[in-house]
Amino acid sequence: MSGKRIIAMSGGVGGAKLAEGLARNSNGTPLTLIVNTGDDFNHLGLHISPDIDTALYTLAGLANPETGWGRRDETWSFMQALEQLGGEAWFRLGDADLAMHVERTRRLAAGETLCDITADLASRLGILAQVLAMTDDQVRTRVGTDIGELDFQHYFVREQCRPQVSHIVFKGATAAQPAPQVIQALQSGEAEAIILCPSNPYLSIAPILAIPGMRELLRSAGVPVVAVSPLVGGAAVKGPTTKIMDELGLSVSALQIVEDYADLIDGFVLDSRDAHLRDRIDLPVAVTDTLMRTAHDRLRVANETLAFASSLYS
Ligand code: GDP
Repeated sequence: MSGKRIIAMSGGVGGAKLAEGLARNSNGTPLTLIVNTGDDFNHLGLHISPDIDTALYTLAGLANPETGWGRRDETWSFMQALEQLGGEAWFRLGDADLAMHVERTRRLAAGETLCDITADLASRLGILAQVLAMTDDQVRTRVGTDIGELDFQHYFVREQCRPQVSHIVFKGATAAQPAPQVIQALQSGEAEAIILCPSNPYLSIAPILAIPGMRELLRSAGVPVVAVSPLVGGAAVKGPTTKIMDELGLSVSALQIVEDYADLIDGFVLDSRDAHLRDRIDLPVAVTDTLMRTAHDRLRVANETLAFASSLYS
């Protein structure tokens, strides 16, 4: 392979775990991570980018392993004081985490782009990978449910994914453009492989792919595109992926994920617990244990995924 850079796409928790392994890959190939911003929202006057924050904290080694969101060793004085004053407390913001949202909001208001701010914050946190917002434009995921159409964080955090999902909308996506740095990364000719991380295909990867031109950019990069299954033994490790698949009338199986990505991917990494599905997938498949409990697991899955992608070069 002649490429010089791995490009990956990710949402929050599941994707960031693989991204962290990819960032440490054994070949030392640098990583560009394109992150979903459909989950972004304005809360308490702050611009919050939950998936970018999860990616930044995970890549910086600052993530809270218990919650899957926020920072480790966090303190909660702000939240306690806010609750005492009767403020909205359903979205938890730790004291150190708060600095991220305040600073991002300040810089956005000063006219900087989300992508530039993200890149700078990543380097200030000592992250070597290039971390990019999928777009500088406003795309907002809204979830149609039995209690009405909800902003994503209202569905995900406030309602804890309980409402039944009927449809998902990416408001603003059709008018959005990929961030210039995303276009540059995908057109640079430097890509070695493109990896769709094991993020929720419907809530985390779909908003990225909904931006006009993004699919074409991926395909025209001319390198293997590989998705890592977000299902382990037919179930989600965390979050509402299978609940949503069921509610949308999709089959709850890794086969469905392959179908969702069919026009985009050249290969699929299937979890070993789903190995019996292998013969029903009409694409090159790598079977491995994709459950990432430890730092070692992340690196192993990342290295195996990259070796698989490399084997797909024609
Ligand atoms: P969110 O934005 O925080 O919901 O996170 P993502 O969309 O990035 O990730 C959610 C998906 O990650 C779910 O479908 C999980 O099953 C998947 N996931 C989480 N941990 C793992 C893991 O260790 N291995 C695999 N294969 N998938 C995982």
